[in-house]
Amino acid sequence: MKNNKLVIVGTMAFDEIITPTAESGKILGGAATYIGLAAAYADADIAAVSVVGEDFPEEHLSLLTNRGIDISGVEQVMGGKSFYWKGKYHTNMNKRDTLDTQLNVLADFNPTVPKKHRDASVVMLGNLDPKVQRKVLDQLTPNPSRTVLLDTMNFWMDLELAALLDVIKEVDVITINDEEAMQLSGQTNLVLAAKAIHKMGPEFVIIKKGEHGALLFYKDQPFFAPALPLENVVDPTGAGDSFAGGLSGYLAAQNTTTAPVIKKGILYGTTAASLCVGAMGTANLVQSSKADFLAQLQKLERLRNISA
Ligand code: AMP
Repeated sequence: MKNNKLVIVGTMAFDEIITPTAESGKILGGAATYIGLAAAYADADIAAVSVVGEDFPEEHLSLLTNRGIDISGVEQVMGGKSFYWKGKYHTNMNKRDTLDTQLNVLADFNPTVPKKHRDASVVMLGNLDPKVQRKVLDQLTPNPSRTVLLDTMNFWMDLELAALLDVIKEVDVITINDEEAMQLSGQTNLVLAAKAIHKMGPEFVIIKKGEHGALLFYKDQPFFAPALPLENVVDPTGAGDSFAGGLSGYLAAQNTTTAPVIKKGILYGTTAASLCVGAMGTANLVQSSKADFLAQLQKLERLRNISA
């Protein structure tokens, strides 16, 4: 059953980000936030599933509802504190250290997928506890044309590897950065890492290489999408989530998951990531209209064009 529904699950958070030139203070972050804002550039019917504390301001939630995203699956825990993450970038902003992660309300989160979205064609399991990702999958009603995407990070590989592998079995498309692909597979070569990850379940393995683009491994024919070269990278936080959002939004809008559609979706993801890094936190995604997004996509297409 094909529809253009997209279910997103991920953190909604307070982040504190330190870059070589700026400190953000406590700002809006979280995987589901970036994914939702990025996915909303495509014509998909989106529902977000997440949890926040009483401290989470209404205006953060309305950024998602303003984009038409259904947040009835975002639980607010009265008396609870929202997920908190603090990270610091090196002078080479491809590298960062996590200084603090406080799960807070995420520690006891029991997700509920809104009934209307249980038959969704596309499910984006954003970065969060794999046990929560599993609970989301278990609530879905059968849909033979469903595509499940998953993003994760080293934090969950270190803490919850068995639960993560159990979810990865059900995944069609995994997006993962190069270092995490190596950690997950135990391989130091990316081609071998992708092969090992294929065997864990996903048909499509997308390995993100930050400012050096993204590689898709599918059957025997890899595909490469460069990142847009940017003069001003302010804050890379959320680039991976924005990539996942742009990709999953496009897949939901297209209603089909073939290799050419995934490849175009990768361009959508790359475009969303390039917008994201242009300002601190979510600011640039919040400010950029659909027309801005399409103009950026056109720049990316020009980057790849050999005849002009
Ligand atoms: P990215 O830069 O794409 O890896 O995503 C950064 C976002 O992920 C931040 O907004 C954080 O709030 C969120 N985040 C950081 N650590 C975790 C974690 N362990 N689980 C889930 N989300 C996280």
